[in-house]
Amino acid sequence: MTVLVVGSVAYDTIKTPAASREDSLGGSATYFSVGISRFAPVSLVAVIGEDFQERHIELLRSRGVDVSGLQREQGKTFRWAGEYFSADLNSRTTLDTQLNVFAEFSPSLSAEQRRSPYLFLANIDPELQLDVLDQMERRPDLVALDSMNFWIDGKRDALNKVVANADVLFMDEGEARDFACEGNLVTAARKIMAMGPSALVIKQGAHGVLVFSGDTVFSAPAFPLDHVVDPTGAGDTFASGFIGYIAATGDKTPEGYRRAAVLGSVMGSFCVQDFSVDKLLTLSMQDIEDRFRAFSQLTAFAPLQDGGSLLTRN
Ligand code: AMP
Repeated sequence: MTVLVVGSVAYDTIKTPAASREDSLGGSATYFSVGISRFAPVSLVAVIGEDFQERHIELLRSRGVDVSGLQREQGKTFRWAGEYFSADLNSRTTLDTQLNVFAEFSPSLSAEQRRSPYLFLANIDPELQLDVLDQMERRPDLVALDSMNFWIDGKRDALNKVVANADVLFMDEGEARDFACEGNLVTAARKIMAMGPSALVIKQGAHGVLVFSGDTVFSAPAFPLDHVVDPTGAGDTFASGFIGYIAATGDKTPEGYRRAAVLGSVMGSFCVQDFSVDKLLTLSMQDIEDRFRAFSQLTAFAPLQDGGSLLTRN
């Protein structure tokens, strides 16, 4: 089942305490497309400038990403710069956001893209996300949405509208609190879900994710890694595993959401092991399945049997 993604394609400049990289291939739609290309056909709609390198289009094409919706416009490609300070790389500061061609971006979907059964509205201006929803010929089976503080602060009304139309919403812990104007995360989650989404994925960086769906909450840890190179794109790569699982299996049961969350965590954990999409490009299906198994081991423990007592051993 084809997944349509509309989002940013960018050149990022990243600083971490250990290293830095200038103008590396980034953007929400880039991470998502490269990640999900392992699991489902993906069609990308985004804007690039005159400076966007042909080899990067080729890279996407080589992963099977449909790049016919990549619009090249006059001007420079969207640029973002961020810095991570602490050794665990859990907090970051945006140093610079240059919208460039993104400022005038007007997504235009082909007839085929308008019929996509799965839609991921990656982190872009919520007004553009609404415009994409309007262009869909029929409501997709699954509309998933990501956003960030930049838009929560700047375009709240439009964001409220698009959230009301989403099935699955991805947000960072801090963003969820800000968006709901509520300090307690569980209460914030309830308030956000009352706005429309049937599932809410709260990303907690190195602390994993919480998936709220219906009355249930599922928690998946982040995979313990001894060396994190660059957390940029982990959220979008998480979304690629999450939606990739659902698109590949069609499973939208609570059990399916749990597996989707673990596959998301697996993909996110690979993403942070190198800059840009570099690590994702090296992965075999075996690598992905091995880490999925390692996740089961990480969280498995003997359940308490019916009628059993916790502290008695025989
Ligand atoms: P993540 O680390 O998952 O939040 O995603 C980081 C990616 O989001 C980077 O590659 C940036 O190019 C991209 N990005 C940063 N700010 C924005 C923005 N305001 N709109 C769209 N994409 C952005």
